[in-house]
Amino acid sequence: MARAGACDQIVNKGDEGKDISMHELPITESILKIVLKHAKMNSARKVMAIHLQVGKLSDLEDDWIQRYFDYLSKGTLAEGAMLKIERTPIMVQCNACSTSYKAEMARMGDLVCPACGEKDGTLLSGREYYIKEMEVQ
Ligand SMILES: [Zn+2]
Repeated sequence: MARAGACDQIVNKGDEGKDISMHELPITESILKIVLKHAKMNSARKVMAIHLQVGKLSDLEDDWIQRYFDYLSKGTLAEGAMLKIERTPIMVQCNACSTSYKAEMARMGDLVCPACGEKDGTLLSGREYYIKEMEVQ
């Protein structure tokens, strides 16, 4: 539900001619570049699917990555490839005792270390994205 709402918002902003959220585009471009490079190295004829790992804190929308990918990959080996996006957990390290723990998106403003109760933590992961594997023919 939240995801669909966010997409509508982006579309509406675009319709009004204002700045739209375009950060998926350069990221999708770099994903495609890497995919094509690997496809060539493996003498692939076609890329069927790409498994991506995207941190839960990243505000990249799955639907938009796929849409941009479909658009950018036209006429390439990766045309029509399915993006399979897996969300990786948000990891925080306690600033007091260095314990690493998983955090939830909804609780990011309210972190508490499970080991010592300290509220200061440093984000270890959650914003990154990378290509885990790809299926080629
Ligand atoms: Zn701690």
